Amino acid sequence: MAWDFETDSDYAKRLIWVREFLDNEILPLETLLHDVSEAEWKKLTDSLKQQVKDHELWACHLDPELGGQGYGQVKLGLLHEILGRSSIAPGIFGNQAPDSGNAELLALGGDDEQKEKWLKPLLAGELRSAFSMTEPDVAGSDPTLIQTAAVLDGDEYVIDGKKWYTSNGSRADFLIVMAVTNPEVHPYQGSSMFVVPTDLEGVEIVRDVPNMHHPYPPPGMQPGGHAEVAYRSVRVPKENLIGSEGDGFVLAQKRLGPGRIHHAMRWIGQAKRAMDMMCERALTRRAHGSLLAEKQMIQDFIAETRIEIESTRLLCLYAAWHMDKHGSSKSRTEIAMIKVQGTKMLYNAIDRAIQVYGSLGYSADMPLEEMYRMARATRILDGPDEVHKVTIARQTLKGYEGVEAQGDESGREGRKGEVKEGMLPTEHIPTRKEAALKKFGDLLEARTANS
Ligand SMILES: Cc1cc2nc3c(=O)[nH]c(=O)nc-3n(C[C@H](O)[C@H](O)[C@H](O)COP(=O)(O)OP(=O)(O)OC[C@H]3O[C@@H](n4cnc5c(N)ncnc54)[C@H](O)[C@@H]3O)c2cc1C
Repeated sequence: MAWDFETDSDYAKRLIWVREFLDNEILPLETLLHDVSEAEWKKLTDSLKQQVKDHELWACHLDPELGGQGYGQVKLGLLHEILGRSSIAPGIFGNQAPDSGNAELLALGGDDEQKEKWLKPLLAGELRSAFSMTEPDVAGSDPTLIQTAAVLDGDEYVIDGKKWYTSNGSRADFLIVMAVTNPEVHPYQGSSMFVVPTDLEGVEIVRDVPNMHHPYPPPGMQPGGHAEVAYRSVRVPKENLIGSEGDGFVLAQKRLGPGRIHHAMRWIGQAKRAMDMMCERALTRRAHGSLLAEKQMIQDFIAETRIEIESTRLLCLYAAWHMDKHGSSKSRTEIAMIKVQGTKMLYNAIDRAIQVYGSLGYSADMPLEEMYRMARATRILDGPDEVHKVTIARQTLKGYEGVEAQGDESGREGRKGEVKEGMLPTEHIPTRKEAALKKFGDLLEARTANS
């Protein structure tokens, strides 16, 4: 029997260190994020990053030769659950999106030269990156519609197109761009990815798109802003193609699969933090003669939140285990399930915590309002929930068949999907009863005879 819900003791000790480090060093820093300059932030976080490296926990998602630990997804998931409590923690552990996903993509698909030129400095924190796939004019949820084109001209590809929501794009040194290289074939085979340095002629960072995260951006570019980017006849050397022409979709899948598990585990950390805040308040605030914690409607909030967190956690760890055992492409359904369930669980947990805090919860004096705005984005980013539900439903339906129409009196055979009178569900009780009587009738007759 291999079912086991325990973490091995060595790794459990590491996780305890991470938890204490997060509580004592990272959480206090959070409140300064919006008040300090980028240089000051670097000064504040450099020594923390060094401590993470000294504990061999830097960029754990990568293989050892790239400075990571080569942990599988289960171990990574448990780490991300702790880091998820704070939105600044992933950056201090070298696994901040989009850099972490881009590093993984370059590690998987890049050649030696690309790894040397882009991946190593990215991991060392010397370069920053962004992932540029979604376009404003076509549905981002259906990347087969991408219009940005890359045409080979001598030793260079010429890229033309418009993207938006390129997170971190306005601060990035290079962008990983998805473009159509062969419009004659299906986009699954006709799309490719390129490393595009932001200082190339023709790359224009148009703006950081104002959004629920940064509704009123001050002038200048925002850390973590979501950029609109125009590519105007950008000439990219041929060597900047990642993998081969046509690899775009395969690379995108490889990049997004593990990332979704890390995201979902981080959402569990966020949701737990919201629940911690909710319980503390419920045990502190009195109204109408009792503590909020004594009111059944508030107890319902707490119970529902705990159940949703624990069940999502199990689903996530199962998906992580499935991926370690069977790989990314065979774990599509499991990954889609945690994407959908994770966003719902997160949103509900924060929403209920805000409710319990009342006006204080709605105010920016508590972290909940910012967490709530971020949680809203999770239902859209990395593919909207609806698209993941389609995947889940399609994969589920593959395990079933409709009832076949039986042949009729004329002897004509029935066809699957044909609507005919008398097409009864497999579970139809009178039909099953009739069959049961045929099967067990002798025994019943024997019983009647004996009585
Ligand atoms: C905060 C944030 C960060 C992001 N970062 C990046 C990034 O770094 N790089 C990048 O390239 N992109 C990024 N995106 C973009 C993101 O990937 C897209 O927003 C997403 O794929 C949805 O595309 P869309 O916005 O064009 O919505 P659309 O594709 O227009 O979809 C709109 C809605 O249509 C519905 N819908 C779509 N398909 C179906 C279906 N099959 N069945 C039922 N309903 C459906 C859904 O409700 C969906 O929300 C980010 C988005 C956000 C919000």
